[in-house]
Amino acid sequence: MKSRLGKYIRPIFLFAVLCTFATIVLAYKNLQLLRDAESSVVLAQHIIARTQYIEKTLIHAESAQRGYILSGDEAYLPPIKKARKAIQEEIKNIDAMTLSPAIRNDLKVLEKLTDERIDLLEKGISLRGSQGLISAQQFIEEGNGKKKMDEALAVLEGIIAKENILLKERSKISEASYFTLFSTTSFTGMISLSMIILGFYVIVRELQKRTLLERNKDEFINMASHELKTPITSLKIFTQVMSKKLDLGQFVEARRYINKIDAQTYKLVSLITDLLDLSRIQTGKLRIEKEAFNLNALIDETVEETQGTTKIHEIVKKGDIARMVYADRYRIYQVLINLLTNAIKYSPEGGKITITVEQVRDDVVVSVEDKGIGIEEKFLEKVFERLYQVTDPREKTYPGLGVGLYISSVIVRRHGGKMWVQSKKDRGSTFYFSLPLRENEL
Ligand code: ADP
Repeated sequence: MKSRLGKYIRPIFLFAVLCTFATIVLAYKNLQLLRDAESSVVLAQHIIARTQYIEKTLIHAESAQRGYILSGDEAYLPPIKKARKAIQEEIKNIDAMTLSPAIRNDLKVLEKLTDERIDLLEKGISLRGSQGLISAQQFIEEGNGKKKMDEALAVLEGIIAKENILLKERSKISEASYFTLFSTTSFTGMISLSMIILGFYVIVRELQKRTLLERNKDEFINMASHELKTPITSLKIFTQVMSKKLDLGQFVEARRYINKIDAQTYKLVSLITDLLDLSRIQTGKLRIEKEAFNLNALIDETVEETQGTTKIHEIVKKGDIARMVYADRYRIYQVLINLLTNAIKYSPEGGKITITVEQVRDDVVVSVEDKGIGIEEKFLEKVFERLYQVTDPREKTYPGLGVGLYISSVIVRRHGGKMWVQSKKDRGSTFYFSLPLRENEL
């Protein structure tokens, strides 16, 4: 049998699985976004670096040309020779990398300008070789090499500036992606983790309850076997003694044992009846067959019967109920017997036991009061629970299965009534039950 929490184990784990799945999907999606954002950041960094490289190559070629023209030393020439190819390659690379159409246009302009600038650098070099330092210097000063260089540098700076803007934007996107990845996965992850923890907690509670239930069951079987064994052992002894007495012709003595055997048989039957009723309640098969009967008469009968079992108690009836009651006579008898035998059992010093019957508005209320051991307040509600016995070591010495009050309260509830108790430790107890009269009206 599953407890209330136990019913939630499946939904909890299902929810945990869904959350885990959502965490994986979200993490995957966000990781993809993050990867895209990161790679576009890296791309922008590469483009800036390559643009700066073109800038350096161009400046370097220009200084090399100046060095050659002034000194005539050919050691200056290699950077100029390599510059065109290196710049063209880098422009191609940047063109392949960039996602911005504006930068692609800039690259076209840049290609033309750098080409023209390198043409002019080469022309200056060849003039120095063929016509000497003065003509070459004149060519540099008069030509528009400086203008071309400035234009190319301006385009290069423009590309760097645009890529820097893109880099900033992409860095922001990348940071936001980090945040989304972290927050969404940690949120769903936390939920699934909490669900898993909750699920395990419920399972552990369920297992603990089951173990407790199993233990209670074992204890009950132990107790029931013991309770059944006691009257059976007495029966065996009494019949042996009675048989001896009969052999000896001591008929009066033998008769006393018949009464004892009768009492033990009664105990045995009522124990077995309790066990059967308990199982009927468990399986929903406890039948209530209502009929109209005189509750007064039934109470008188029960008082007489229970008075016959004790010499140290005086059972007194108070009150009257004029109306007939519509209920299951046998089951109500069972409740009355249970209350009266408990009153006797739990007042071992003897004394007065009062059974009162009265009409309270539309109910008939019956109470059984004793001056016995009483019940501590904290146990008051529990005594109606199945298999509950107050676990005071003193109470332990009283025989019983702890099912009588439970069965009685179920019977009363099935009649639409209520059962309750008032008690004070060492002062005695009063057990009440009510039955509705209106619906019972004939
Ligand atoms: P049982 O008497 O077989 O143990 P019950 O269900 O009849 O089982 O009673 C449950 C518990 O309630 C008892 O074990 C006892 O501790 C307490 N109890 C019942 N009736 C009385 C009473 N009249 N006075 C004191 N305690 C009582």
